Amino acid sequence: MAEYKIIKMEGRAKRAEFKTVHGTVQTPVFMNVGTAAAIKGAVSTLDLKEIGCQIELSNTYHLHVRPGDELIHKLGGIHKFMNWDRPVLTDSGGFQVFSLAGLRKIKEEGVTFHSHVDGRIIFMGPEESMRIQSHLGSTIAMAFDECPPAKAERSYVQPSVDRTTRWLNRCASELKRLNALEDTVNKDQLLFGINQGAVYDDIRIEHAKVISELELDGYAVGGLAVGETHEEMYRILDSTVPFLPKDKPTYLMGVGTPVNIVEAVDRGVDFFDCVYPSRNARHGALYTHKGRLNIKNAKYACDDRPIEEGCQCPACKNYSRAYIRHLMIAGEMLAMRLCVLHNLYFYNHMMEEIRGALDEGCFAGFKKKFISDFESGNV
Ligand SMILES: [Zn+2]
Repeated sequence: MAEYKIIKMEGRAKRAEFKTVHGTVQTPVFMNVGTAAAIKGAVSTLDLKEIGCQIELSNTYHLHVRPGDELIHKLGGIHKFMNWDRPVLTDSGGFQVFSLAGLRKIKEEGVTFHSHVDGRIIFMGPEESMRIQSHLGSTIAMAFDECPPAKAERSYVQPSVDRTTRWLNRCASELKRLNALEDTVNKDQLLFGINQGAVYDDIRIEHAKVISELELDGYAVGGLAVGETHEEMYRILDSTVPFLPKDKPTYLMGVGTPVNIVEAVDRGVDFFDCVYPSRNARHGALYTHKGRLNIKNAKYACDDRPIEEGCQCPACKNYSRAYIRHLMIAGEMLAMRLCVLHNLYFYNHMMEEIRGALDEGCFAGFKKKFISDFESGNV
């Protein structure tokens, strides 16, 4: 069983510590996304340590399709497979099933769909998702849910959320059974439940109350950043998060921009993940405290400053904007690697700054300055 301890609060913002079998996580935390057990852009687990990553996130669906969770189980689990001794969170596969996979059929038992790699038919339900995640042996497993589109009608969302609740109960029983098996890689595997309900506050609140009654290790807000506006997202966090257990981690899935993260911390969220920093980096869009810059821009051709003055990432400590721009234009793989290292460092370091501000009791002032600097675009 994990231990979650709130160290300090400012308004609804939480500064906490989460002890797991793979080490203690300081929150608020940003989980670095390694879809197929690797960060896209040639960034290894050794690099992750250097850029301050506390938790790596891998995708159940991708690893199930390739190389297969049974293979990873045989090799001793995902930690050993990718040489990473800190916490790993695996998603349930649900999001990919509903967004990536081709033709699919949802039933009470689960979902039948075609693999996006080779088209073969796969069935995944709550039990299958738990078995795959148990094979992987991640620190935190996510419950299998349906993520309805933001614009879905109430008449679709309500029955979907009810089914997600029944699936959550099945996930909890199955994980309990799996954790007791002899050949289970991580017998202390934790389970986070997921709140759904699209943009309907009342459905979200009711669902939050129902899932809070289960003794889970953490609670996520899912189904946001899927097409609704930022204002809608903040409104849903304002209405829903107060109904999730405060004494458990609160995870906002797939969000978001630096400003989104600071706003969500203010609303009580303390776990985040997002592909923005790594995906944007691969296209040369780099984060600084004064906004985003595009390194491919001609004005950086002769710029011998680092991406951001004072940044302690491996790219900024050693290379200039001019050099990185040249690598990007020349299509050198090193360009992507340096850009991804910088952006992930920026996110991890931003969380460290947020934690520092909460520790000092000055998060409100930090938030105001952070957002105004970031939006100044004065790069
Ligand atoms: Zn940097």
